[in-house]
Amino acid sequence: MYPTVDPIAPAGVTPTGISRRSFFRFAAGASALASLPILTEAHLAYADRPKFADPNKGIHIDANENPMGPSEAARQAMIAIVPRGGRYLFTGEEELAEIFAKQEGLSAESVVPFAGSSEPLHYTVLAFTSKDRPLVVADPGYEAPMWAAKVSGAPIFKVPLADPKGEAKHDVKAMLAATSNPGVIYICNPNNPTGTCTPRSDIEYVVANAPKDTVILIDEAYIHLCDAPRSLDFVKEGKNVIVLRTFSKLYGMAGIRMGFAIGRPDLLAKITPFGGMNALPITAIAAAKASLLDADLVPTRKKIIADTRLQTIAWLKSEGYSCTPSESNCFMLDVRKPGKQVQAALAAKDMYVGRIWPAWPNSVRITVGTPDEMMAFRKDFTAVMSGSTAGLVPPEMPRRLAKAPFTHMS
Ligand code: PLP
Repeated sequence: MYPTVDPIAPAGVTPTGISRRSFFRFAAGASALASLPILTEAHLAYADRPKFADPNKGIHIDANENPMGPSEAARQAMIAIVPRGGRYLFTGEEELAEIFAKQEGLSAESVVPFAGSSEPLHYTVLAFTSKDRPLVVADPGYEAPMWAAKVSGAPIFKVPLADPKGEAKHDVKAMLAATSNPGVIYICNPNNPTGTCTPRSDIEYVVANAPKDTVILIDEAYIHLCDAPRSLDFVKEGKNVIVLRTFSKLYGMAGIRMGFAIGRPDLLAKITPFGGMNALPITAIAAAKASLLDADLVPTRKKIIADTRLQTIAWLKSEGYSCTPSESNCFMLDVRKPGKQVQAALAAKDMYVGRIWPAWPNSVRITVGTPDEMMAFRKDFTAVMSGSTAGLVPPEMPRRLAKAPFTHMS
């Protein structure tokens, strides 16, 4: 049995920087629990930066973004729709859901578009967990569901990844055994931060063996980057599964915002009342449609990112470091000393990496940037690892700037 945890004050998490401090200040206000924000990768990456980072300066390989941005077709589609921006264009969301549903052999009612996948992730945890229905997650894993459980008051069970030095996959049997009555079991495939995939047989096992009213939330934010079997067939079979997809990763639309919740209509009906009824930006809808209709986009970008990842990991290995066997746009790098020190020393060079997970304090997550960015990373990493990083804690950001990244969430 794994102990329940508090994501706001987990062991080993010490706010070190001003942005992180402001994060904890807004997040930890007990009276504000009911209004805890929907946390995205961007918020978590910001909160973990050891110093204030001008987004226009330095190299940012700390938020699993895609430096290629939206595809050319998506850009043109956005430009073309801007003159119609005075209209709601109600049918756009339906059309987008229909295109995706048709491509995947799903019914259109089993697809709901949202402004990114953070929203349906948060709402699924709110809808299906409670103080009596815990959340079960893998560790290290993506933290956002735990923050949502903080809102629903659900106990959280963090289950270490199996085979951490090898496959680093979800330990599905231990996740099922963690508690008798989970509301949600969260499977991130490929996993953030390790980039590793959990075998299909393990995912089938958890779907087949979970209590009958437990929802298996399968987060496929990074699925386009790997060859792992997809999980949409569970939805077609009517299982208690909600799959999340996003346009933020391979499609390069993190700042444009579009994603899907895919599930049985009766499950989706429980999450949409939390906020799925708001109209979505027509620019994001247009860009998402154009991206889905571009048949070359996924294979082309998958290869570009994989090549850069493989080259970077091969170089790190040749330098004697070990990395998780990622199939995604991020991996964990074992730096053999407190990761926070290395992160701070790199940040002092305007090279932003991270985050560090309390479960693996000597590892740092690295996002795969452009080939040039990764060459710059090699240079800075070599310099940092060959010098002393002791005591290298960058200065704090002035207080007046501290709230900036989070003002829209208060
Ligand atoms: N799920 C995972 C595992 C992520 O890493 C992220 C972002 O990095 C998201 C969901 C949410 O992304 P978005 O809200 O941009 O779709």
